[in-house]
Amino acid sequence: MAKSKIAYFCQSCGFESPKWLGKCPSCQQWNTFVEEVIEKGGSQAPAWKPASTSQQRANKPVEISAITYSEEHRLPTPDKEFNRVLGGGIVPGSLVLIGGEPGIGKSTLMLQLALNMPGQKVLYVSGEESERQIKMRAERLPAPHPEGGVKNSGLRNPEDLQARPSAGGCYILVETSTQNIFKQIEALEPDLLVIDSIQTLHSAHIESTPGSVSQVRECTAELLRFAKETSTPVFLIGHITKDGMIAGPKILEHMVDTVLQFEGDRHHVYRILRTIKNRFGSASELGIYEMMGEGLREVSNPSEILLSHRDTPLSGVTISATLEGMRPMLIETQALVSASPYGTPQRTATGFDTKRMSMLLAVLEKRCGFRLGVKDVFLNITGGIRVEDPAIDLGLAAAIISSHEDIPIPFKTCFAGELGLSGEIRAVNRVEQRIAEAQKLGFNQIFISKYNLPASGQDKKRMDLSRYNIDIKIVSTIEEVFSLLFG
Ligand SMILES: [Zn+2]
Repeated sequence: MAKSKIAYFCQSCGFESPKWLGKCPSCQQWNTFVEEVIEKGGSQAPAWKPASTSQQRANKPVEISAITYSEEHRLPTPDKEFNRVLGGGIVPGSLVLIGGEPGIGKSTLMLQLALNMPGQKVLYVSGEESERQIKMRAERLPAPHPEGGVKNSGLRNPEDLQARPSAGGCYILVETSTQNIFKQIEALEPDLLVIDSIQTLHSAHIESTPGSVSQVRECTAELLRFAKETSTPVFLIGHITKDGMIAGPKILEHMVDTVLQFEGDRHHVYRILRTIKNRFGSASELGIYEMMGEGLREVSNPSEILLSHRDTPLSGVTISATLEGMRPMLIETQALVSASPYGTPQRTATGFDTKRMSMLLAVLEKRCGFRLGVKDVFLNITGGIRVEDPAIDLGLAAAIISSHEDIPIPFKTCFAGELGLSGEIRAVNRVEQRIAEAQKLGFNQIFISKYNLPASGQDKKRMDLSRYNIDIKIVSTIEEVFSLLFG
């Protein structure tokens, strides 16, 4: 028996090192290295590749004009939100990661898709649940989409299969070994493969436990080869923990073509499916679902989510269009301004820098004449999110004044602007993405800075605000914002 070979992997980014390191040279994190056994055996079954073609096919250089290019043929799904985040349907041979916290509904989303792909043979591989559990869950799912055609003809077990049927269907395979999965794939020849989840898979080529960095990397690499060589789309479900990411998904993001993130609060009914990376389309798409007792329902009119929270506008509450990394996000902020009964006014901010809050208050006092120095001020960003984006300034300032004056901000109004010391509203980055998000979520008006508009006529075409179906209020000073809001 060969001596087992070990390596150390950064659990944060997947960096591999022959020895333990205190600090990761790739992602600069401390104490992230964990030992993993990666002994490679020579006698195991091959990873993806039928034996006959196991020889590496060498590519030859091709003169560029000789390369024929055709528009990608995409496979539309009956789920419009899903098509949207993929950029118009499933691309053959693509490897798509669906990430999200455990229990958020990733399996439900994918099982629903597997059951509703008209005329397609879908193999759903689960290492998480038994066949019986999946069958029970499938029976609770809603009837097929009205335009989606037929629901796949129930669940079948690949072992029952004698001849290869040409018709579609959803097949369930409870298996965690990639070699066994590929054996079944060769027999079944599915049109679409779903893996639930990548963290449960293990390859015989790697000794370490399922879910470890080296296993996740190896299994993904095998599935990637399978997807590319057979042009079969593969969906991988990957779990992400609440406090950031576990090792797997971070490395996975680099390897796959498309990363979708399924987000939401387990205690709330709405779920958001976001595109984080997409080689075949825009990376800022988002789809919205409602989690019903019997599955996920597409939400075609997203404003219903925001309207359902409150039926009367409240003072001190505003919505800001922020960006988290590359992702646009609409965040509710609340302010409470009240007379200070004691000598020293209290200033508390949750999810926002207190120093920056003092600056906002000083600008409002100096430029707009609100006497905030003698008031208690509390700021809260809902959802427990910490916001670094300065574009939230304008929304917060509006919330403070709304609470101070006890006048609610009009419904479906949101803000994106940074506040300067002289009371000017500064430009924010990616303003069009914020406008698009506000429009997508059903807002009526958005306040943005005048300085976000191109100065001369030459750039006018690049930024055409008339294509938005939302009232864009262009402001340059904080005084202007308040006269527009409160008259
Ligand atoms: Zn690292």
